[in-house]
Amino acid sequence: MSESFEFDLAVIGAGPGGYVCALKAAQRGLKVLCVDRRETPGGTCLNVGCIPSKALLHSSERLHEAETEFAALGIDGVTPTLNLGQMMARKERVVGDTVKGIGFLFRKNNVTFKVGEATLTGPHSLSISGETVTAKSIVIATGSAPAALPGVAFDEKRVVSSTGALSLESVPKRLAVIGAGVIGLELGSVWKRLGSEVTIIEYGDHIAPGFDRGLGRQFQRALEKLGLKFRLSTRVTKIAIEGSALDLTLQKVGQEATEALEADVVLVSIGRKPYTQGLDLGTVGIDTDEVGRIPVDAHFRTSCPSIYAIGDVIAGPMLAHKAEEEGIALAEHLAGRVGHVPYDAIPSVIYTQPEFAMVGRTEEQLKQDGVAYKTGSFPFMASARARAIAATDGGVKVLTDAKTDRILGVHILGACAGELIAEATLAMTFKASAEDVALACHAHPTLSEALKEAALGAYDKPLHL
Ligand code: FAD
Repeated sequence: MSESFEFDLAVIGAGPGGYVCALKAAQRGLKVLCVDRRETPGGTCLNVGCIPSKALLHSSERLHEAETEFAALGIDGVTPTLNLGQMMARKERVVGDTVKGIGFLFRKNNVTFKVGEATLTGPHSLSISGETVTAKSIVIATGSAPAALPGVAFDEKRVVSSTGALSLESVPKRLAVIGAGVIGLELGSVWKRLGSEVTIIEYGDHIAPGFDRGLGRQFQRALEKLGLKFRLSTRVTKIAIEGSALDLTLQKVGQEATEALEADVVLVSIGRKPYTQGLDLGTVGIDTDEVGRIPVDAHFRTSCPSIYAIGDVIAGPMLAHKAEEEGIALAEHLAGRVGHVPYDAIPSVIYTQPEFAMVGRTEEQLKQDGVAYKTGSFPFMASARARAIAATDGGVKVLTDAKTDRILGVHILGACAGELIAEATLAMTFKASAEDVALACHAHPTLSEALKEAALGAYDKPLHL
C-alpha cells in the first residue's frame, strides 16, 4: 500500500540552498513546502550575509572614493560626510526588497511557505512549531551560524559576529577583527572606510587563507594602503570587558610573551559552523560528523533514505552559490532527472577593494598534489582600461596542466574581479584550455583582456607585456 503525504517535498530552511531547491522542485511539478523560522525568506545570505554586506561595502566604497579619489579625477568641491543612519536604512531597503522577491517567486511557483521552527518527527514527517506536516522527501537546508571564541559570547553590541557588525549604531573608534578570512576582511574594510581604526588579528601567517599566496601578498599591501593593520601569526587568548573598553590579550604563535590591545568593538570572524540545533536528527537516526556537518552521499541523501541535506550544513565551501547549485541538482534528482554540481569550478570572491577572486586550484595545492603545471600572469598595471579607471592594483594568474593546457585554476586580484572570474568559471566548467580562452575575442578596452593575456602567457607569451 503506498502511503500518501501532504507534500512531495518539504524543505527546512529558506536560504539559498533551500529556497532554490524548493523553487526548482516546484517548477518540475512537485508539491513543495518550504519552512523557515524567519518571516523573511533568503536565509543568512539575504538577511544577514551576502546582501547587506555588499550594500555596506558599496556605500563605504563610494564615500572613500569621494574622500580620496575625486580630486585626482578632476572633481572638486565635493566634501562628503557620513550619514550612518541613512546608509543602514538603505542596506535594510536592499535586504527588504530582495527578500520580498523570494516571497513573490514562491507564490509564482506555488511553493507553500510556512514560518516556524521545524523539528523532524519521522522519516516523512516534521513538526512546524507544533503543527505536523508529512512529505515524501525532506531536505535539510538549515545552513550555518557564526563560530564563537571559547568562553566569549556574542552580545552583538561590543563582541559582535558578522550579524552585529552589519548593524552597529555608531562607528567604533577602535575595531578589532579576529580572523582575516572573507568576512573579517570585507567588514573590516567597511568600518575602516567609515572611520574606525581597524586591527585584524589572524592566527595564520597570511591573510585570505585558501586564496593564491602571491597575489595575496599584493592584496595585503592594498588593504594596508587603505589603513587596515594586520597582526599575523597571532592569537587572541582573552577578551576582558573593562568599563567601556575591551582588553584583548594577544600572543604571537610559538611565543610565551603576551601583549594587550584595546578596542571598543570586537568582530569575531573565525568561521561558521553547520547549524542543526532543534532539528532532532536523532529521531531519524542521522549523526553529524566531527565538525557538526550532516554526511550525505553523491545525491545528497543522508543515512535516512527519505531525508536529504544541502548547503552550509554539509561538507564543502560555505558559499551561497554552492548551496544553490546543490539545491538545483537535488531538485532535479527528486524530479527523476539528472542534477550535477561542478565542484571543481566553484568560484570564491572577497568583495573588498580590490576584489580577490579565484576558481579551481591554487599553486600551493598543485605543488602539494605533484601536478606539473604552467603559469600565465598579467598585471592590471599593463591594462589600458585599468589605468583609465584608476584601478591598477593586482593582476590575473592562470594555472594550466603542463601537458594538456587545460585550465586548473584562475586567480584575479583587482577591480571587478568577482565579475571577471565568471569567464574563468565558465571556461573551467567547459574544461577549456588556456588557448581556448586566449583565442576568444575580448572587447577592448576591458579588464577582461587581462584574462586573455594571462591565458596567452600560460602557453605562449602575453602580447602587451
Ligand atoms: P542559510 O542561508 O544559513 O539558511 C538556512 C535557513 O534555515 C535560515 O534562514 C534559518 O533561519 C533556517 N533554519 C535553521 N534551522 C531551522 C529550523 N529548525 N526550522 C526552521 N528554519 C530553520 N556567500 C557567498 O557566496 N557570497 C558572499 O558574498 C557571502 N557573503 C557573506 C557575508 C556574511 C556576513 C555571511 C555571514 C555569509 C556570507 N556568505 C556569502 C555565506 C552565505 O550566506 C552562506 O553560504 C549561505 O547563506 C548558505 O546557504 P544555506 O541555504 O545553506 O543556509
